[in-house]
Amino acid sequence: MSAQQPKFETQTQVDFVVIGAGAAGGIIAKELSTAGFQVVVLEQGPYLKEKDFDHDEIKHFWQAALINDWKKQPNSFRKTPKAKATVQPAVMYGRMVGGGTAHFTANYWRFHEIDFVERSKLGTISGTGFDDWPITYAELEPYYTKAEWELGISGQPGPFDPPRSKPYPLPPLPIKSAGALLANGARKLGWHPQPAPMAILSQPYRGRSACSHCGFCEGYGCEIKAKSSTLATVIPEAEKTGRCEIRSGSYVRKIETDNAGRVTGVIYFDEKKTEIFQRAKAVVLCANGAETARLLLISKSNLFPNGLANSSGVVGKYLMFNGGGFATGVFEHELNEFKSVAVTRIIHDFYDSDPKRGFYGGGGLDARFDVYPIGYALGALPRETPRWGADYKKALKQYYTRSMFTFGHTTSLPVERNSISLDPEAKDSWGLPAMRVTYKDHPDDLKIMKFFSDRGMELLDAAGATKRWAGPVEESTFGVHLLGTCRMGNDPKRSVVNKYHRAHDLANLFICDGSSFVTSGRGQPTCTIQALAYRASDHIIRMAKNGEIKSA
Ligand SMILES: Cc1cc2nc3c(=O)[nH]c(=O)nc-3n(C[C@H](O)[C@H](O)[C@H](O)COP(=O)(O)OP(=O)(O)OC[C@H]3O[C@@H](n4cnc5c(N)ncnc54)[C@H](O)[C@@H]3O)c2cc1C
Ligand code: SF4
Repeated sequence: MSAQQPKFETQTQVDFVVIGAGAAGGIIAKELSTAGFQVVVLEQGPYLKEKDFDHDEIKHFWQAALINDWKKQPNSFRKTPKAKATVQPAVMYGRMVGGGTAHFTANYWRFHEIDFVERSKLGTISGTGFDDWPITYAELEPYYTKAEWELGISGQPGPFDPPRSKPYPLPPLPIKSAGALLANGARKLGWHPQPAPMAILSQPYRGRSACSHCGFCEGYGCEIKAKSSTLATVIPEAEKTGRCEIRSGSYVRKIETDNAGRVTGVIYFDEKKTEIFQRAKAVVLCANGAETARLLLISKSNLFPNGLANSSGVVGKYLMFNGGGFATGVFEHELNEFKSVAVTRIIHDFYDSDPKRGFYGGGGLDARFDVYPIGYALGALPRETPRWGADYKKALKQYYTRSMFTFGHTTSLPVERNSISLDPEAKDSWGLPAMRVTYKDHPDDLKIMKFFSDRGMELLDAAGATKRWAGPVEESTFGVHLLGTCRMGNDPKRSVVNKYHRAHDLANLFICDGSSFVTSGRGQPTCTIQALAYRASDHIIRMAKNGEIKSA
């Protein structure tokens, strides 16, 4: 805890409790405390600092150093509601102060104008909840700009980018081998490569160092604050106000309400598993698209028997993961892609859905090599290479330095049966119902993945790969983009929150994180999650100042 942090008594009715100190929660905590409100942030994970981060691959990828630990908080998974779910990892997210932004890859793409109005432009899609958002790109644009400037984003607009009111605050990061090959290959094919917008500093910014290109970026915390996480940016700002307490190791198990249906506070477990009740005038739930829905369902009561904020029955439904279409290429010369950040160039030529393709979907393409030595040795070599002895070593040496992937980030349609619900049997280490994930990609989601895998193969060919192969196109059983489970909308019967992120059912409950999404965009949701968080904060502050939030 920093010196500036207050320590609120739990019986004090603070103005706001924010649940989750991640991409959205960090911003909301900073905005509300800066506006003069008392804020307690309850975060289940630890409060790690730069000095706590290291480059230990086993710790990060096998021992859940920065992410949710499936041994303590198991998930179950099934493809369809009729199938029996089996306990297996199904979602991954950053479980610490900073949430996903502490360890993410840091791709930071704005949505395009079309993302908010696709249903009006393309029509309905049978078997889905495909819909327009209740807000437009123009309404969100000032908040995209605010996020880019407050957090520190490096980039340069490309030909397909939506309009912007200000340039990026920082120039793009230096191009890497995979970026250069992507750009060369793309130009040969008549496509339009552009620098990747990244939440990583290309130059020193607001007292933080520029990226030193250490190479342990995706999946790791940044030791020099060059990754523009909420941990390195807005959370310290919130603390400086002297009105924001970050209470880490605090696992919220219920949002409490009174008989009049108003939120009174939250019950959480502290690190010793003691239950504590924190009173609050209002709660802002920012626990991500998976845990937010789970917590609302767990928070059921006599007054809210289907879970909190769930009179529509929509809580947990329309889960979207974003898809991926992959290809791998090997080149004659060394690329040494293990250095620096993951991505430096992208292509948005195929962003929009094109009816000529015969199915719905679009996406963006990047080039990267985001696999570390142990992971690579265990699972990323070409299938025919030996797995033991001198030839195995030779293959590792040859391929590790000369390979790159193309990664198409694609749309997922909002399908009602794809959902977060409570497992009837499995429990977590605190005795709470485990998260049950039901997910089966819409056929169009698989078609767009294949489309991007094919474009990747074309690109690798044009870039001069000596060997290339397409990644498998398979139904998703695991997600890191957790979107859509408490969708925004104007109709309380078909959505969970209104356009200002206020729950339709409870005047002093706000929900803002990946769960608010109506459609999935084309991967890289964090830029939009954070723009939404700035926008939601403005409206919550306005309502609180006007006396429109009626607390218990
Ligand atoms: C390996 C990896 C790479 C990624 N790379 C990118 C990328 O390049 N670009 C991109 O846009 N996105 C990326 N993402 C996704 C990105 O991290 C998420 O979309 C984003 O962080 C979600 O923001 P959020 O505010 O919804 O939730 P989060 O950032 O997940 O924050 C939620 C917080 O709430 C806490 N919490 C949950 N439940 C409780 C509870 N009951 N009590 C208390 N606290 C709770 C969690 O511990 C967490 O800290 C990546 C994700 C992963 C896993
Ligand atoms: S590559 Fe740069 S931003 Fe990423 S962890 Fe290393 S220094 Fe930080």
